[in-house]
Amino acid sequence: MLDAQVLVLNKSWIAINVASVRRALALLYQGHARVIHPEDYSLHGFDAWCTYSRKACMKNEDLPMVRTPSQFIVLPEVILLNAFNGFIRHEIRFSRSNIFTRDKHQCQYCGSRPERRDLTLDHVLPRSRGGVDSWENLVLACAHCNVKKSNRTPEEANMRLLNKPRAPRWLPKFGMSTRKPEMHSWHRFVDTSCWVTEVAE
Ligand SMILES: [Zn+2]
Repeated sequence: MLDAQVLVLNKSWIAINVASVRRALALLYQGHARVIHPEDYSLHGFDAWCTYSRKACMKNEDLPMVRTPSQFIVLPEVILLNAFNGFIRHEIRFSRSNIFTRDKHQCQYCGSRPERRDLTLDHVLPRSRGGVDSWENLVLACAHCNVKKSNRTPEEANMRLLNKPRAPRWLPKFGMSTRKPEMHSWHRFVDTSCWVTEVAE
């Protein structure tokens, strides 16, 4: 339970990190953060959240909660930092599956979204001509576009890239283990379309 994940927002309600419940409760207890109620988005400091938890647990004993000797605390899902207004720089691991996430399972030439097995990784500058494996040089391409482009650059093949490929900005989605379900309350704050728009020229 204490290792469950909590979304952390900065003072401006922008998602910046994912923390363990343990860490989130420590921030809450120290007065550095408040809990955002998953349904009505109201804010609760530590004492208020304990009061809320007592009532909520009486109504619904199945709520995920932490028991301390003196009280029940409903697991927070999203917390808001009281003072911090910056961002945390995270490096997103360069991997095949993260390129799928960045490109939203979409061919970056024709825009089609075939099945995963029909998508390939295309070297923008072909490998045979010195193209490397990098965020900037790999994009998703459907089998058709990959064959059509062949050993050419997009300019030579007269095929325009939908988005300029680059390393994505960190989003909690990337920091999460895929085994854990995403919490509904996170959706309002985490949206991959944000950075895909930003990546587009
Ligand atoms: Zn295509």
